[in-house]
Amino acid sequence: MADIKSKGQKLKDKLLLNDKNGWEGMSDAEKKNITKFCDGYIKFLNTCKTEREAVKEAVALAEKAGFKLLSKYKSLKPGDKVYSVNRGKNIILAVIGSEDMENGLNVVGAHIDSPRLDLKPNPLYEDSDFAYFKTHYYGGIKKYQWVTIPLAIHGVIALKDGSNVEVRVGDEEDDVTFVITDLLPHMAKKQMEKKLSEGIEGEDLNLLIGSIPYNDDKVSEKVKLNIMNILNEKYGIVEKDFISAELEIVPAFNAKSLGFDRSMVAGYGQDDRVCAYTSLQAILETKAPKKTAICILVDKEEIGSVGNTGMEAKAFETFVGELLRLSKQDSDINVLNRIFANSRMLSADVDGAFDPIYASASEKRNASFFGKGVGLNKYTGARGKSGANDANAEYVAELRKLFDDNNVQFQISELGKVDEGGGGTIAYILANKGMNVIDCGTPVLSMHSPYEVSSKYDVYMSYKAYKVFMK
Ligand code: MN
Ligand code: MN
Repeated sequence: MADIKSKGQKLKDKLLLNDKNGWEGMSDAEKKNITKFCDGYIKFLNTCKTEREAVKEAVALAEKAGFKLLSKYKSLKPGDKVYSVNRGKNIILAVIGSEDMENGLNVVGAHIDSPRLDLKPNPLYEDSDFAYFKTHYYGGIKKYQWVTIPLAIHGVIALKDGSNVEVRVGDEEDDVTFVITDLLPHMAKKQMEKKLSEGIEGEDLNLLIGSIPYNDDKVSEKVKLNIMNILNEKYGIVEKDFISAELEIVPAFNAKSLGFDRSMVAGYGQDDRVCAYTSLQAILETKAPKKTAICILVDKEEIGSVGNTGMEAKAFETFVGELLRLSKQDSDINVLNRIFANSRMLSADVDGAFDPIYASASEKRNASFFGKGVGLNKYTGARGKSGANDANAEYVAELRKLFDDNNVQFQISELGKVDEGGGGTIAYILANKGMNVIDCGTPVLSMHSPYEVSSKYDVYMSYKAYKVFMK
């Protein structure tokens, strides 16, 4: 049949924005590709619920793909695949390019910490024949979302002898579970009249962990003693060992395909392990690039990128300096600065997707939508772009061309309405070093909640975007 598009329709196709839903008209083969890729992603989410677990898994996958510890190299040549781990919570991977590093690097950086509840340094107590762990939340959470859901405990207890006890309990089918209780509606008249932000208070996020008293009438705190006795038998620890522990309370439920059409992923920690997994897969498949490709998986983004495992730490400069030294290039600070000035980066972090149930929080013309590809945020920040890395127009144009030429569907957006939304990522930190940086990641619903949602199509497009960027 002949093309019967009207003149106006043709003009509209040519001149106006037309972001289509990526699932429309997709071949079965492409759908299969996306499903397979996301099966791996779902597995990654279930294996990695903390930054330490994500680093461990990244190391295992990297070793399998032929990457080796940077410290094992005496010199580097193009095509070499290396990684470096910073205190078990931050990993940087690189594939050495054929060009001189001074021409710049292609960097993709994601974070592997997620909002959660941490145990306080002195967590164990007993009240009214219940034993509890006190917690202190990490990152921006809605506290009411963390009560009455099954929770697991993941982390490490560092002992004085230098060894670490690894803890991971609550996820498996035959494991026990843990929960933070809430008041029944019948008795919650006062609580229900409170503001949503105050209904559950930080000091009430206490994890229920036991209720049987130790069998000895002569001692006090019998339930606490009984729990400590069980922990001593299981992990060989005493109460004081909690002082040197990092134990994180995370949702116990596993990530799964969401919807009758299996088009989405529901799971904890997709901010930002979705960008971590997709950028990791991208670098693992990068072979012989012109420019050295780097993937950063960093910790502490959710609390401001601080600390020695966060993006503000010097680990990245040290890593690039080391690449230079081992490539027999000069590694003085001027060279480093020139490299950074010539480098470009995708700050791979999730974007708050448009949710029709909460439509009024978004500005529809500048929101990201499920099924429309990887999201670009030219700027983040809040209230007049404060705190934003505002990507240069020329850099955005360069990426538009790269993505269009390689069939990577992308969309451009802001996080919420001008006076209501906003946020921050690691983008500004690398921009401060002189790089061209833009935020580029997967749109997510219910971000920062215990069960976030993403579109498999957008997950796949994020992976494709990072891959063509590092090629
Ligand atoms: Mn994030
Ligand atoms: Mn976040």
